[in-house]
Amino acid sequence: MPASALEILKTVYGYDAFRGPQAWIVEHVISGHNAFVLMPTGGGKSLCYQIPAIARPGMGLVVSPLLALMADQVAALRQAGVRAAALNSDLPPDERRALWRDIGAGALDLLYVAPETLLREGVLERLSRARLSLIAIDEAHCLSQWGHDFRPSYRQLDVLVRQFPDTPRMALTATADEPTRAEILAHLEIAEADAFIAGFDRPNIRYAIAEKDNPRAQLKDFLRRHDSESGIVYCLSKRKTDETAAWLRAEGYDALSYHAGMDKAAREANQQRFQHGEAVIMVATIAFGMGIDKPDVRFVAHLDLPASIEAYYQETGRAGRDGLPAEALMLYGAEDIALRARFIEESDAPEERKRTERQKLDALLGLSETASCRRQVLLGYFGDHCEPCGNCDTCAEPPELFDGAIAAQKALSCIYRTGERFGQAYIVDVLLGADNERIAQFGHDKISTFGIGTEHDSRMWRAILRQLIALRLVDVDLAGHGGLSIAPAGRDFLRDKPTLMLRVPAPRRARRGKVERS
Ligand code: ADP
Ligand code: ZN
Repeated sequence: MPASALEILKTVYGYDAFRGPQAWIVEHVISGHNAFVLMPTGGGKSLCYQIPAIARPGMGLVVSPLLALMADQVAALRQAGVRAAALNSDLPPDERRALWRDIGAGALDLLYVAPETLLREGVLERLSRARLSLIAIDEAHCLSQWGHDFRPSYRQLDVLVRQFPDTPRMALTATADEPTRAEILAHLEIAEADAFIAGFDRPNIRYAIAEKDNPRAQLKDFLRRHDSESGIVYCLSKRKTDETAAWLRAEGYDALSYHAGMDKAAREANQQRFQHGEAVIMVATIAFGMGIDKPDVRFVAHLDLPASIEAYYQETGRAGRDGLPAEALMLYGAEDIALRARFIEESDAPEERKRTERQKLDALLGLSETASCRRQVLLGYFGDHCEPCGNCDTCAEPPELFDGAIAAQKALSCIYRTGERFGQAYIVDVLLGADNERIAQFGHDKISTFGIGTEHDSRMWRAILRQLIALRLVDVDLAGHGGLSIAPAGRDFLRDKPTLMLRVPAPRRARRGKVERS
């Protein structure tokens, strides 16, 4: 009889209770299912595979990218009386032989291995003779080809699926947005239903997002609420970083800058001053981030659109580490969006990559334009949930809305009638009845939804579709061509036809001099 999970938690780790979804995950894997675990760093992922490995008969195989990380884990586990070891390439031959003997004799609970070692000649074959309790792939985002941490050997880990089809598989990571998550699930053949995502909420951070109107005035308003407090102001370019810092100093703030164009000594000196200072504002590009460990950052402001929702979450997450109230403000402009879209189109990246980038941008715009709680949209992006939070700008001051039920029905039925495989631009063209060869080719100029949306312009329709995506009424095919389809909630919507309030996109700013009083 395997020991109960809770017993192991108490005796091996000395903890009284599971945290968040740990209990469900552990139970799920102990009973032989696969699992995908997405939790922020420090969320407690290790227990999620260690306890099932101890509880189930056989040895848990853990694929981990860093030798140092493995050594730490193994040492801690051994200290707690768990039979753990790491198989790495620089083991002396006699230790290696002894380790293989232990593996063969079933004398281990957990074996850590780097992917490169695992793929080395003969290793898998020898492992297949051992009894495996589970396979855990840590830092699973390393298999994503478009990610920052891509490791080619991670890409070959699907051999584990072939070789051990009946052994429960786990993939764990702290950094996976939706496209990356889809990639991991597909590659390791883990079902969507086996995904566990949690712990992303940072309830003490208040989120606000606004269109750029007069950004310096907007920033000054914001800073008025943060007198004598430390914070970070993110800008896109080095030049803007320096200019903004100089302007803030002229306004009487203790502002420093940080970007890759500065020499290392100056950068480090500024980081030190920020780290230990009392009311220091760091104006920085995204080069500033690694290794910031200041618990009392009270605010983070973005003067430009961040790179993605994930980047936004990470950058705003530097505020309020001490758990006390903190505030995040993001300003974005139509020009930023156009520029970002152009960067994507003009880059040399392969089409697949561009598609992912477009989707990430759309998701970010969805967050910016949502009429619902920001936190709900933000957490929803990571698959996490919350009630309307009462601690964001849209909760505090609901934006101007219109009754979007009819528009949503039109958009959803247009997606449905065109076969749930076309992207945003195409759907908008059909709604507007555009004279377009592709539409004629597919015969979509003959369907009932052709031209039923002329009461709105294309900008409005794009805003509507983005909100439907943000509300999870519409799904985007992330693995394929970005085709839109009706999500389960969208089907419910079409059936029940509830009311739906959508946000009116902010009017495009009139060009100066063109506005006349009548
Ligand atoms: P992650 O791998 O997600 O970054 P870890 O597994 O290293 O996180 O866990 C982070 C910290 O939280 C560790 O110190 C761990 O011992 C602790 N921890 C994890 N689960 C629990 C729990 N149920 N109760 C108390 N502490 C826990
Ligand atoms: Zn809210």
